[in-house]
Amino acid sequence: MMGKIHELSEILSNQIAAGEVIERPASVVKELVENAIDANSTQVDIVVEQAGLQMIQVIDNGDGIEPEDVPVAFKRHATSKIATRQDLFKIQSLGFRGEALASIASVSDLTIETATADSLGTFAHFKGGLLEEQKTNPIRPGTAITVRDLFFNTPARLKYVKTFQTELANIVDIVNRLAMSHPQIAFTLTNDGHLLLKTAGNNDLKQTIAGIYGVTMAKKLLAVSASDLDFKLTGYVSLPELTRATRNYLSILINGRFIKNYQLNKAIIKGYGSKLMVGRYPIAVLAIEMDPLLIDVNVHPTKQEVRLSKETALMTLIEGAIKERLATENLIPDAMQNL
Ligand code: ADP
Ligand code: MG
Repeated sequence: MMGKIHELSEILSNQIAAGEVIERPASVVKELVENAIDANSTQVDIVVEQAGLQMIQVIDNGDGIEPEDVPVAFKRHATSKIATRQDLFKIQSLGFRGEALASIASVSDLTIETATADSLGTFAHFKGGLLEEQKTNPIRPGTAITVRDLFFNTPARLKYVKTFQTELANIVDIVNRLAMSHPQIAFTLTNDGHLLLKTAGNNDLKQTIAGIYGVTMAKKLLAVSASDLDFKLTGYVSLPELTRATRNYLSILINGRFIKNYQLNKAIIKGYGSKLMVGRYPIAVLAIEMDPLLIDVNVHPTKQEVRLSKETALMTLIEGAIKERLATENLIPDAMQNL
C-alpha cells in the first residue's frame, strides 16, 4: 500500500523557498546584485522596467559561470561559496545558502548569459524553474541575468506586490545599501530609462554617498572612526542639524554586508545625546570590520538580520565615536572666537 506522505517535486519546493527569499521585485534585485558582488565584479548595472514588475536585469563583469555549471547553479542548495561546516562559521561572501537562483527561476521567466575568462560563454532560458534551452553564446566574461514575468505562476504573491512607487522605492533602497557597502564597485540603477543612481567605484565611501544621497548632503557629513580589539569602524555622520524624519538614513555595514539592527541604530542615536529634536534622526553610514567568527549571518533567509556576539561592546564603540566627533565639531567655533 502507498503511504500518504511523499517528497515535494524540486520545482514546488523551490517555489516554497521563493516565498521566503523572494518577497517582491526588490528581493530579486538584492539577490542578483549580491551574486554579482560575490563574483568579484567591478561594474554592476541594474536595469528595471516598471519597478521590476516588467523586467529586472543585472549585468556584471565578474567571474562568470562555466557552461556545465549553469544548470547546477539553478538547483536549490547549489553554491560555490561554502563547502564545509567550518565555512559556515566564517562566511566572507554575501551568499552561501544556494537558494536565490533556484527560487527566482521557479517564479519567473529568466534568461542568463554568462562567460568565464576561459570558457566560450553560454545562454540559458528557464521558465517556472524548467530549463527550456541552453546554447553556446560567445560574450565577454561576466554575467547578465534577465527576469521577466515575476510571480506569473504564484498569483497570491503577485497580489501582494504594491504600487510601482512602493516597489521602486524598495529597489532604490536596497541598491543604495549595496552600493554603500561596496564603494570599490561602480553601480548604476536605471528604471524605465531614467538613471536613478550612479556611483564612482573608486573605493571612496564619501564619493559613493555623494552618488547616492547627492553631493550637497555628502559634503555636510563628518568623518568618524574608532576601533578596539574586535572592531574597526569608519564612516560618516551628519551634524545634529541635518536630520530626517525616518531611521531610513541609518546604514550599518558589517564586513561589506548591509544589516538591520535596532540596537546598533539606537547606539548611533545615543551618540547624539540630547542634540536631536524629537522624531528626527541623523544620517549615518557606518562601515564596521570584524572577525567573521563574531557574526552569525545564518539567522534569516534574507541575511539582513544577524547575531553579533559582542553587540554591547560594538554599541559602546559606535556611541562613543559619534559623541566624540560631535564634541570636537562643537569646539571649533569656540576656538575661533578666541583667535
Ligand atoms: P549563493 O549565492 O547562496 O551561492 P545562488 O543561488 O544565489 O546561491 O547562486 C548559486 C551559484 O551560482 C553561486 O554560488 C555562484 O557560484 C553562481 N553565480 C550566481 N550568480 C553569479 C554571477 N553573477 N556571477 C558568477 N557566478 C554566479
Ligand atoms: Mg546568491
